[in-house]
Amino acid sequence: PPDIEQLGRSSWMLLHSITATYPTQPSSQLQNETKTFLYTFSKLYPCWHCASDFQQWMKEDKNSPRVSSREEFGRWMCEAHNAVNVKLGKSVFDCNKWDERWRTGWKD
Ligand code: FAD
Repeated sequence: PPDIEQLGRSSWMLLHSITATYPTQPSSQLQNETKTFLYTFSKLYPCWHCASDFQQWMKEDKNSPRVSSREEFGRWMCEAHNAVNVKLGKSVFDCNKWDERWRTGWKD
């Protein structure tokens, strides 16, 4: 079975990279496809308790996927990641820095 930490780091890289390259003005078709992707991803994620908790988190009204723009989607993914950070006792990431970390690159 995959190593949960390595799987997590690789998966977050994929997920945040998807938000970083997401259109600023996605078509309604792409928005629907993105939601379908997220629900399917949350079912297929190859760590069953992670997948189950992620599905539960997404089911709460306040956490339903926000995919209407790159900014919204990037922040939503940051909040999703923070929910896992909190659960694991890791520090919470400042979502104002999402763009700098995953899209434009850290400024030195
Ligand atoms: P990671 O949490 O993997 O983060 C990688 C990098 O992302 C960080 O170094 C930081 O630069 C950046 N980052 C951190 N937080 C944010 C944020 N909020 N927004 C944007 N960027 C950020 N592990 C478990 O043990 N139990 C679980 O139930 C579990 N559920 C998971 C569910 C999902 C959907 C995913 C994708 C992963 C899950 N994981 C779970 C794995 C866990 O989230 C971590 O990936 C793993 O513990 C490795 O952590 P890390 O400290 O190396 O950094």
